[in-house]
Amino acid sequence: MKKPTKKCKNPECEEAIVDYKSSKKTYCNDRCRNRAGYLNRAAENYEFELVKKHTKLNYLALKKCYDKNILEIDIKTLKILEFNIDYLANPKLYKIKDELINVFYVKEIEFYYSKKEQKIIIIKN
Ligand SMILES: [Zn+2]
Repeated sequence: MKKPTKKCKNPECEEAIVDYKSSKKTYCNDRCRNRAGYLNRAAENYEFELVKKHTKLNYLALKKCYDKNILEIDIKTLKILEFNIDYLANPKLYKIKDELINVFYVKEIEFYYSKKEQKIIIIKN
């Protein structure tokens, strides 16, 4: 039976692995394995820094509004303040006005996103 064609998992290589003894072989050689490991770690680190950066920008945007006691803000306005909705994470489910809502946190600020109104609503405690 012919073995399926495999490609080296190093994204910079992707050569076909034709002569493999073990079906577990995923790289041409150690150099490719090490390079792929390095690239993966670099990508994870980049992703981590990106999340950190945007979480901070989100906080600053919300804080600006919060300090002015503006608690309902259009997404469009927030975008101008460099808020990025793609970087909201780990919501907690709460019941607000008989509706289950994903509440987000950045530091001391609690808020949720109303898709219908295209607004972020800050919850003032
Ligand atoms: Zn390779």
